[in-house]
Amino acid sequence: MASIREEILKLKEEIPEGVTLVAVSKFHPAEAIKVAYDAGQRCFGESRVQELLEKIPILPDDIRWHFIGHLQTNKVKNIIGKTSLIESVDTVRLLDLIDKESAKAATITRVLLQVHVAREETKFGFLPEELLEFFLSRRFESLKATHICGIMGMASNTDEEERVRRDFKEIYSIFRTVRDDHSLGLRGFDIVSMGMSGDWKIAVQEGSDMIRIGTRIFGERQY
Ligand SMILES: *Cc1c(COP(=O)(O)O)cnc(C)c1O
Repeated sequence: MASIREEILKLKEEIPEGVTLVAVSKFHPAEAIKVAYDAGQRCFGESRVQELLEKIPILPDDIRWHFIGHLQTNKVKNIIGKTSLIESVDTVRLLDLIDKESAKAATITRVLLQVHVAREETKFGFLPEELLEFFLSRRFESLKATHICGIMGMASNTDEEERVRRDFKEIYSIFRTVRDDHSLGLRGFDIVSMGMSGDWKIAVQEGSDMIRIGTRIFGERQY
């Protein structure tokens, strides 16, 4: 656990200003999160609803929790009001449900839409053309209690740097296309979350302003 503190401090030095570090604590115990917290880390990422709900009450109140996993529609209700950002909204149906439950709970939920460019890897996320179509069709205008803050994506899981870089370029280009289309009238659409333990440097070079680091901080996960 000593190394958790060291890794947090080292990362803080390495990461450029303006890039948010999300410490991905999924599958790691509350004690490990507390070590990172005591090193100054406040933003943590979890991928399972049940695990998140167990950790929240036993950890400090000023932690900002990001949900980064596939969110099942039947669990949405349970996490409304508990997250600082849901990074992994992967369907319009899920988005609409988050909106409905947020309105019911009289809260605003901040989300990112997940885009799927690493075609052979993850199975979740909007395809690039679906995401662009979602914005161009102005489907977001019907949302009452959800703030779309940007997009999240993952690169292919490969050592081939050029492939990874190409994926990040594609994610960033989708982000920029939407952000710079002023006719959409989006406000506060300014987060592009990309980059994990193995590829965050490339992601930052390609424009990322939020990186999600698990293994490098906490070690290998025991599934
Ligand atoms: C698990 C996970 C991470 C962290 O990956 P590491 O390689 O351990 O840094 C980042 N993003 C998402 C969406 C994840 O599910």
